[in-house]
Amino acid sequence: MNLFIDINTLTSISTVFYIILMPLLFVFWKHNKDIEAIKWWCIYPIFRILNSIISSDSQLYDEEAWIYASNLAVIISDSFLMIGCLKFSKRKVNYYYIAAFIGLFIITCIVQYNVDTLLAERAKSVVLFDMVTIAISIYALLHLEDKKYALEKYFTLFWISFQLWTFAFWFYIDFDLLNSAYALWLNFSLAGVYISHIFIIGGLIILTTAMRKNQLIEENENHQKLEANLTIALRDAQIANEEKIDFLTNMSHELRTPLNAILGFSESLKFDYYGTLNDKQLEYVNNIFAGGELLFKLITDLLNLSNIEDGKVDITLEEISLSLLINKTKPLLDEIVSHSPVTFDIINDLEEQKYNKAVYVDQIRIKQILMNFVSNAVKYGKKDGTVTMEIKEYDNRYFNISVRDDGIGIKKDQFENIFKPFNRAGNEKTKIEGIGVGLSIAKDLIEQMNGEIGFSSEQGSGSVFWINIPKSKQREFPLLEENQSDNEIKSDNEIKHDH
Ligand code: ADP
Repeated sequence: MNLFIDINTLTSISTVFYIILMPLLFVFWKHNKDIEAIKWWCIYPIFRILNSIISSDSQLYDEEAWIYASNLAVIISDSFLMIGCLKFSKRKVNYYYIAAFIGLFIITCIVQYNVDTLLAERAKSVVLFDMVTIAISIYALLHLEDKKYALEKYFTLFWISFQLWTFAFWFYIDFDLLNSAYALWLNFSLAGVYISHIFIIGGLIILTTAMRKNQLIEENENHQKLEANLTIALRDAQIANEEKIDFLTNMSHELRTPLNAILGFSESLKFDYYGTLNDKQLEYVNNIFAGGELLFKLITDLLNLSNIEDGKVDITLEEISLSLLINKTKPLLDEIVSHSPVTFDIINDLEEQKYNKAVYVDQIRIKQILMNFVSNAVKYGKKDGTVTMEIKEYDNRYFNISVRDDGIGIKKDQFENIFKPFNRAGNEKTKIEGIGVGLSIAKDLIEQMNGEIGFSSEQGSGSVFWINIPKSKQREFPLLEENQSDNEIKSDNEIKHDH
C-alpha cells in the first residue's frame, strides 16, 4: 500500500484553505480592531500563499531566484506570526530587531546565491531562521493564562511546535531530504508542515474569539461591579436625602413657631392694640413684620419642597371648570401684584363654551403654581412693567396658562438650571429675594397632576412661564352650575388691573 502523500496536491489544498481562512481573520480584525495581534496574523497567510504558489509552480521553482523569494516569503510570514503572538500576549515588540533579523536573512540569501550554496545548506539556513521565529511565538503563547485560553492556547501551540519538532528531525538527518531510509517520514513531515499552517490559522482564529469572549466577560464583570457601586451610592444618597428632608422639615417647623410670635406681636403693635406708636416706631414695626413675612414665605417653600421630596404632598385631582379655577385664583394673584407698580393683565383667548369646560387638577396646587409664576414675574419683571396672564387651548388634552413679563429674562446657559431646587439661575448675588425652590416645586406639582410646565425667555426682554393643565376626560360638557356665579371673565375679554 502506498502511504506517501502527494505533496503537490497537499500544497494546492492548503493554499485553498489559507485563502478561505484569511478573510475570516480580516473580518475578525475589522470587528475587533482593539485586538492588535489580528492585524499581524492577517498578513501571515498572505506570504504563506505566496510561498505555496511559487513552490507549486515547477517552472518557477527551477529558477534559483524564485526559490530564494519563496524562502523569504516563509521567513516574513512567520515573522508576522511571531509579532502577532507577542502582541497577543501583551509583550513589547522591537520592530528594529525584527527588521534586522529579516535583513540578516536577506544578506545570507545574497551571499548563498553568489557562492552557489548547495540546496541542503540553503534549506538549513531557512529552517534555522524560521525556528527562531517559531520559538519566540511559542514562548509568547506559553505565557497566556491557562484559565482564560487553555484549549485555544494548547491547540495552537501544538501545531506551532509540531513545526519545531519536524525541523529538528530534518536537522537530525542532516537535511538529506532524499534519504531513502526516512523517505516515508520525510514525506509525512513535509505534509505535516503544510497541514500545520492550516491548523495554526484556525488556532489564531479561536484564540482571538477567546480573547473577545474574555474581554466581554471582563466588561460584564466591571459593569456588575459598577452597578453594585452605583446601588450602594444610590442607597447612601437616598439615606442622605432622607436625612436632609427630615432636617428641613424639623427646621422649618422649629422656625415657624418663634416666627409666628414675631408676626403676631408685630401685627398687634402695628394695629395700635397697646397704644399708639410714633412714626419711627411704626416704620420699624412694619419692617419687622415685612421681614417676618418674607421669612415665613421662605420657610413655607422649604417645607413644601421637603414634603414633596418626601412624597408627603397629596394631590387631590378633581373636576373644576377652567373659568371657575381662574376666577378663584385671580384675587390671590391680584393681591401679589397689588404691592408693586406693575400692571397685571389677564387675556382669555377661549370662547365661552370652551372656557367653561372642566379641567382635572388639584385647584389649590394650580393656584400655588400660578402665584409662584406671578410673584416671579413681579420680582424679575420691570419695575413698572406689565405682567400678562394668558389662557388658551393647547391641544385636545390641555389648556395652556402662561405668565409673561417684560423683565430681566434668563441667560441661555441658565435654562437647564431653572427647575433645579435651590438654583437661582444666576440671581444668587442680586438683591432679589428668593431661595430657588418655587419653580422646582411647581414642576413636581404639575407633573403629579399629569400636566406640563415650561418657559421661554430672552435675556433683557422678559420671560414666559407656562403650564399645560389636563382637560377632564370624564366630562365633555360645560359645568354650567359652577360657572354661572363666577363668570366674571368673559371670552376674548381683557381685564386690566392697574396699580
Ligand atoms: P426664586 O425666585 O425663589 O429664586 P424660583 O424657583 O421661583 O426661585 O425660580 C428659580 C430661578 O429662576 C430664579 O432664581 C430666577 O433666576 C429664575 N426665574 C424665575 N422666574 C423668572 C422670571 N420671570 N424672569 C427671570 N428669571 C426668572
